[in-house]
Order: sequence, then C-alpha cells, then structure tokens
Amino acid sequence: MVIVLKENPNPEQVKNLERWLAGMNITTRIIEGMSSTVMGLIGDTSRVEIELIRSLDVVESVQRIQEPYKRANRKFHKSDSVISVGDVKIGGGHFALIAGPCSVESREQIIGIAKDVAASGAQILRGGAFKPRTSPYAFQGLRGKGIELLVEAKKETGLKIITEIMEISQLPLFEEVDIIQVGARNMQNFELLKELGKCQKPILLKRGLSNTIQELLMSAEYIMSEGNENVILCERGIRTFETATRNTLDLSCVPVLNSQTHLPVIVDPSHGVGIADYVRPMSLAAVAAGADGLIIEVHNDPENALCDGLQSIKPDIFAELSAKINELILILRK
Ligand code: PEP
Ligand code: MN
Repeated sequence: MVIVLKENPNPEQVKNLERWLAGMNITTRIIEGMSSTVMGLIGDTSRVEIELIRSLDVVESVQRIQEPYKRANRKFHKSDSVISVGDVKIGGGHFALIAGPCSVESREQIIGIAKDVAASGAQILRGGAFKPRTSPYAFQGLRGKGIELLVEAKKETGLKIITEIMEISQLPLFEEVDIIQVGARNMQNFELLKELGKCQKPILLKRGLSNTIQELLMSAEYIMSEGNENVILCERGIRTFETATRNTLDLSCVPVLNSQTHLPVIVDPSHGVGIADYVRPMSLAAVAAGADGLIIEVHNDPENALCDGLQSIKPDIFAELSAKINELILILRK
C-alpha cells in the first residue's frame, strides 16, 4: 500500500500515522519527491482500512499495490486448487458437470431427472430446496423435505448433490449434502460466509447480481479465513442494461479469475442467459473460456416447472450437450 501525503505534511501527524501503523506490525518508508511525499507500507496491510487513512488530514491519496485477499490469491498459491467431493474432483484439469432442476418438486421429478443426467455424464445433481424467490407468493421450495428427496436421489444414482443454503440455522439439514451453494443474493451475507468457513464442506459461491470480481474474491476470503479452503467460484450472470437475456453472462471473468485465484471457477449459463435455447452455446463458450465446470438447469417438463422453466433444458438436449462438452474438452487439451 502506498500513501501519498499532502504537500508539506505536518511532521507530528506523519509520526502519529507511522506509530499507528507500527501498532499493526506495518513498517513505513518515506520517499520525499520534488513536489510530494510518499509513504510506502511494508507488511500485511489486509487489515488496514483504506477509507480511514484516506480521511486523515495529512493524506492526499491511498493506493493498494497488492490485492486485499490473501488465501484466495494465486500469488501465494501458484498451483490450481483441486476440490474433492468424495471421488469427484473439481479444478486443476478436473472438469465437473452439475445438472438438475432449479427446484426439487417431487420424488418422481428429482429421481427421474437424476437418472437422466447421470446417464448423460453429470457427476453432481443440483436442486433447490430453499429457494430465494423475488416474490413471497412464488414457490419457496420443499425445504427440509427437498433435501431428503435429494439424498434419496443420491442413493439411487450415486450422484453427489448440491443445494443452496439461505440461513445458517439450516446447516444441520445439510449433513448429507456434498456441496453447499451460496446463492447470488447471499454472496455478501458475511455472517453466513463466516459460519460456512467453520465447516469443511465444499462451498459453491455464486457471484452476486451486481458484484465485481474483486468482491467475489473477498467473499471467498471470508470463508477461507475461517479455515474452509474448499471454495468453488461460480459466474452466473450480472445485471447490465441489456434486456434480451435475463442477465449478462460475464465469461471474461473466467480468465480473469483463473489468473487471480487458484480456486476452481465454474459457470452457470442457465441463470446467465435465462433462455433455454442459449444455454448450449454459452456452455460451450464457458468451457472454451477455461471454466472448471458447469452447473446447468435440466427439467423433464420445463413448461410446468415450478421455478425457472424458461431457462431449463430437457434431458435429451442435455445428453447431446454433455457429449459436445466432452468433445470440446478433448480438443482444448490437445
Ligand atoms: C439457483 O441456482 O437456482 C439460484 C437461485 O441461483 P442464483 O443464486 O445464481 O440466482
Ligand atoms: Mn434457478
């Protein structure tokens, strides 16, 4: 971190600032230029509040040289992290295909879809039990019963299961859930992130609707700083002025994240575009961009789905897409 001091800074105020920083184990170096004085900070500045420094009388401006995230940072962990979900691996060349309905609706529905996507090569079954809906009158999910049905589908097919947590009190219900999803709306629910950091289950962290890449990494840092390093990042589209798609799938975040973090990055094209016909091309584009996996909404009867039918593809389309994804992965590996 570098602090540019105001012209002719008050020496007493400069001393006070240095003393305060020393209290945080940060050493300082003063560089006197022709017209300005710069203070370089050496040490772990991740706990330094940049806004507080900026507000000081003696300070002209402040700039971070290093990213404020440490554990998620590729600089301090050069090799790709590989997250193990039982015998399924994600990251570091291991591609994960996650598929299933937006919401668990019934035993027949979830087990039927689970069998279909397993036969097409998915390793992990998705299905919302606790649903964050915009309207309180929309289907809210089967809650605990939904998780029980996912566990049944897991036993029946051998697929791993992922489902969303909305509140930490729900955690005891997630014992047999393999990956806990933190949805876009909870990406900055810091208390939830901290609590999830205390368990060792893999966490799929979705990017918020209006959050930057750095904010996503800072949220991952919340989980990791509590001790849980098993974080998978997920791009699911962000809000822009565009209305032709539900969101704008920011695929450029995939190479950016791959350079900035060692954590696996997966893409959710279904919420990204919101329209079933566009899921196939954007899935392939995500693979080409370097994603470590995909999470795709698949429904046997999209027209009558209780949630997100418009963006759900049918099992036969998923089967064809899955084969294409495998072909593309092989081509990219050459
Ligand atoms: C979902 O995966 O069904 C979901 C609600 O996703 P998001 O949090 O990305 O909107
Ligand atoms: Mn959905």
